[in-house]
Amino acid sequence: MSFSALFSPLKVGTLELQNRFVIPPMGTNHANSDGTVSDRNIAYWQARARGGWGLIIVEVTAVDPLGKAIPYQLGIWDDKFIDGLRRATEAVHQYGAKIAVQLHHAGRQTYRSVIGEQPVAPSPVSCPVCREIPRELTVAEVYALIEKFGDAARRAREAGFDMVEIHGAHGYLIAQFMSPHANKRVDEFGGSFANRMKFPLEIIRNVRRKVGRGFPLSFRFSAEERVPGGMDTEESLAAARLVEAAGIDVLDVSVGVYGSMEYIFATPALPPGHSLPLAAAVKKAVKIPVIGVGRFNEPHLAENAVQTGKADLIAWGRQSLADPELPNKVAAGQVDEIAPCIACNQGCVGYLFDADKLLVSCLVNPFCGREVAMEIKPAQKKKKVVVVGAGPGGLECAWVAAACGHEVVLFEKEAVAGGQWRVGAIPPAKQPIAAALAYYLRMCNKYGVKLRMETEATAELILAENPAVVVLATGGETDFPPLQGIDNPRVVTASEVLEGKVDPGPAVLIIGGGLVGSETADFLAEQGREVTVLEMLPEIATDMQDVVRQFLMDRLYHFGVDIETETTVREITADGVKAIQDGQEVRLEGYDNIVIATGIQSVRGLEEQLKGKVPELHIIGDAAEPRKAIDAIEEGAALAVKL
Ligand code: SF4
Repeated sequence: MSFSALFSPLKVGTLELQNRFVIPPMGTNHANSDGTVSDRNIAYWQARARGGWGLIIVEVTAVDPLGKAIPYQLGIWDDKFIDGLRRATEAVHQYGAKIAVQLHHAGRQTYRSVIGEQPVAPSPVSCPVCREIPRELTVAEVYALIEKFGDAARRAREAGFDMVEIHGAHGYLIAQFMSPHANKRVDEFGGSFANRMKFPLEIIRNVRRKVGRGFPLSFRFSAEERVPGGMDTEESLAAARLVEAAGIDVLDVSVGVYGSMEYIFATPALPPGHSLPLAAAVKKAVKIPVIGVGRFNEPHLAENAVQTGKADLIAWGRQSLADPELPNKVAAGQVDEIAPCIACNQGCVGYLFDADKLLVSCLVNPFCGREVAMEIKPAQKKKKVVVVGAGPGGLECAWVAAACGHEVVLFEKEAVAGGQWRVGAIPPAKQPIAAALAYYLRMCNKYGVKLRMETEATAELILAENPAVVVLATGGETDFPPLQGIDNPRVVTASEVLEGKVDPGPAVLIIGGGLVGSETADFLAEQGREVTVLEMLPEIATDMQDVVRQFLMDRLYHFGVDIETETTVREITADGVKAIQDGQEVRLEGYDNIVIATGIQSVRGLEEQLKGKVPELHIIGDAAEPRKAIDAIEEGAALAVKL
């Protein structure tokens, strides 16, 4: 495929774009605490500008401190921000990319803990996710906010941005005014469709007045809110025509609000390009260009979308985190070297709202958000490195070390790479993990990692390589709980079931309702088996990212999986278990097999055998401590660049 449509230039108003690749605005928490641009911001944007993107739309940027949605959000509510923002535009422009900034106010979709006081909104109706009752804005305050958007746009222009995007999507303040779900006002800004549209239209007019004629403007909106009584396609098409008439040059068409977050941060349960039909509908309704979005991670699909006129530009949100070099790789015919976003939401959305992280990174690309601290560059001293275990941490460590110039040998005892993570690709909708593993293997091959598959790495084999560095990435194995009856032949592991090594029969009891047990339940229930999940905690799948978990829970309820929480297994019987529930002993029996999904324990037997016999010995991933793949990958990369 030539990707001629993706690489054709496009004019957006007066703005000339070199191609159709767009990075949509995504909050990162990378700014300084006062909202000014940080070095981390600059390095993150620069990495993407180098990657060949036609247009980078800088993340949610607050027009008012009360409009912040995240603690380390960029600000543009004062002239003091202009100099820092100019650094951003200059950093991006040197690579030929165009840069826009998204003007944002969160309205009710924020927290007192972020803004220091009660959030504001069109009406005192709380967001179903944030659950803070907002204060209703007075009419005078609404007019003041219209001015603030205009003033912010003027600053953006002074800072050298090529375009301003007005954020009317995803349930933030402008969307709240537009939405019958959030706006219950009966004054000039509420009630009828025309009144609900007054706030965005007045903002567009104010912005236009302050940036002047010819300065490109984008408007982002959710063409379907997917909450009861929210904006639907028909209202959105009418809205699109109104904002076009008000002077907008390009429409950025998204979907969802916080209350329907599963569409904003789509999981693998939604297909790539899932909201493209909305962009296509808007494109038919207007004459200006349209940006399509929605879990795009594959250039063939994006090319088809542009070729067939469904969208003029394609926004690759999380995919631009996974691989900032995507456009360059497509141009160079290196499509199979694109690191695929697997829609796990762990390193991006998960870290964004994780108080211990507060950054945006990526499971498959741990360099994302850490561009200042971590870099693949030629090693000062080239070393012989032996990595044991081709799970996610081992693969990442191996290819990154090789990319830094080290000579790397990777031992894997199985015929197929991936370890536990490969098994994780088997449940429904988890195939993207397989795509990521395939990518890691290609990177290993590209950088000359010597793969020794189906080779159990003994101490002798490792020492025979005469390595300067040994990395044990040997992962983990099922941690069988010390229960009476655990040696029952009906006891099997989740891995054995998922890999098809055992037929679990028509009725299956799963002990352990973490991610593995819950996804195994989904896998088995989809096959029409009767499934019961036992979990000690009050809820299952609590180790999953919220949005991804919601899709899974919906499926488990749909299939009628019996979920027994706050249940502690005491003994495995002939065909079930004795357990404690509500302080009472209960028997759950009549099962063909009992699946153990109670966690894993580290495998690190080589540690003792190699200690003191190799110059450097490192243990990463589950071999160090059982955790998630994202932790193993981060450790693998961090170690590889330091060797
Ligand atoms: Fe995609 Fe997961 Fe990376 Fe987020 S963390 S960008 S969902 S691969």
